[in-house]
Amino acid sequence: MGLRIGVDIGGTKIEAIALDGVREVRRKRVPTPREDYDATIKAVASLVREMGEGTVGMGIPGALSRVTGLVKNANSTWLIGKPLKEDLEKALQREVRLENDANCFALSEATDGAGQGAEVVFGVILGTGVGGGIVVHGRVLTGPNAIAGEWGHNALPSPTPQDLPPPRCYCGRAGCIETWLSGPGLAADHLRLTGKSLTGEEIAALKGESLRRYEERLARALASVINVLDPDVIVLGGGMSNVERLYTEVPRLWPRHVFSDHVATRLVRNAHGDSSGVRGAAWLWDK
Ligand SMILES: [Zn+2]
Repeated sequence: MGLRIGVDIGGTKIEAIALDGVREVRRKRVPTPREDYDATIKAVASLVREMGEGTVGMGIPGALSRVTGLVKNANSTWLIGKPLKEDLEKALQREVRLENDANCFALSEATDGAGQGAEVVFGVILGTGVGGGIVVHGRVLTGPNAIAGEWGHNALPSPTPQDLPPPRCYCGRAGCIETWLSGPGLAADHLRLTGKSLTGEEIAALKGESLRRYEERLARALASVINVLDPDVIVLGGGMSNVERLYTEVPRLWPRHVFSDHVATRLVRNAHGDSSGVRGAAWLWDK
């Protein structure tokens, strides 16, 4: 059997790995040619060729529309509306499987990471944006709209007076989970209440009221997912997943919001860190 090649097309870097079984045999990253679609295709194609012969899976910031086959919902806006799959396949002369990057993260962690062995895994990215992906019995759930797991642009549930007025979101709505739970969202909340401009990481290190509000909002937002999906494991990724306290404080708050006499869902930190995106992309060809 040939190699499994995974590519993660990010806003600042494109990374590729080659797996032989579960063993990583090659890895390389290059800067993303921002705002330049043709150069992005060329950069990806040349990376894949360097990885060798094998299956090719890719994680993209966004999704392929099930109606048009074109990229949608991407914060790397120069990809939006482009026939990315078709163009990559033309350049590589190979079939390419594309998935949303949060779905790749969830797949990586469900396959041989923090969610290994679990039936239902919800993977969450808490980074500069907020995304999510669902893996059931080892397979990504994409959905007829290609948005399964995309909880970041739902409104934060059960708003309290502290959550008002809802912040505007780039997506055109207001009070989206992303506006509270991304790193910049935490920074904006801290700035509104204290007048001090710090990064999400710096605010978390203070272990003060702003982090407590963040934990409480994360608990509410995840409880609504538990009430719908009832996952065995929720795996956190992205910069905010490094905040150790989330894994004890958030589950402690769940019983108030989850419609059950007990909450068995585990909240865990990712096992593969920044590598989960490329690893999950490679695993798109597992089945
Ligand atoms: Zn939004």
